Amino acid sequence: MTDTSTVRTAVVTGGGSGIGAAIAERLRNDGHRVAILDLNPSDAKFSYVADVSDRASVDAALDEIRKELGPITILVNAAGRELYKRFHNIDIETWNQIVAVNLNGVFHCVQAVLPDMRDAQWGRIVNISSSSAQSGQQFMTAYVSSKAGVNGLTKSLALEYGPDGITVNAVPPGFVDTPMLRKSEAQGLLGGTVEEHIQRTPVRRVGRPEDIAAACAFLVSEEAGYITGQILGVNGGRNT
Ligand code: NAP
Repeated sequence: MTDTSTVRTAVVTGGGSGIGAAIAERLRNDGHRVAILDLNPSDAKFSYVADVSDRASVDAALDEIRKELGPITILVNAAGRELYKRFHNIDIETWNQIVAVNLNGVFHCVQAVLPDMRDAQWGRIVNISSSSAQSGQQFMTAYVSSKAGVNGLTKSLALEYGPDGITVNAVPPGFVDTPMLRKSEAQGLLGGTVEEHIQRTPVRRVGRPEDIAAACAFLVSEEAGYITGQILGVNGGRNT
């Protein structure tokens, strides 16, 4: 539980489902004021609807959050969209849609919260990228490219805003049991079932959203202030 002097206002994008929902719950349990941004409304307290690829929509939601919960000094970017398609069949519009959510969405949200963090001379940003950006992944070129961009953006932001007391890190999950993963399994897109993948995972289990949430909780904490620009894999040893 966070000391009351260090209770912060946190925004978690994609907080209505899967990994983002687990991160929001964990930060709430740690004592923070947590707002979630998602495409659809959720039952969670402080749930706001916004499309992270649309700057006006992000700005409007963040303004509401500031009014209700105060300046935002923790941001976790977990909203994401995937695409399985042979590269030669991807048209540029579809490619741009994936980049618009996964990479430009991080651009919009980070840029929109930076004034609060710079004013406070304190901030924590965690970007949920993907282990596929480490390994590459066939049929997922648009997704992997967008997530590799997130890793590069993370490292560069860390260098640029470290002097303002803001840390920026990425957590690339690998194989976490969420609606996104199960949908891919049901469509036969995983190259095997989740059970078969577990047998190829060193720790012999599928990841849980709570595993990613635990890493985020640490990275947004006071004591993680000397950690920035890092890509902290949480993947059961699938990628090292
Ligand atoms: P999920 O259950 O599908 O959650 C993603 C959430 O993001 C959904 O609520 C989705 O809303 C929302 N979202 C999508 N586009 C959005 C937009 N434009 N604006 C606002 N919200 C948007 O997926 P997840 O597995 O928890 O994934 C969370 C993050 O982890 C994603 O960035 C994903 O790429 C990454 N990741 C997951 C895994 C894994 O194994 N699960 C592995 C590597 C990386 P809708 O449901 O309405 O679309």
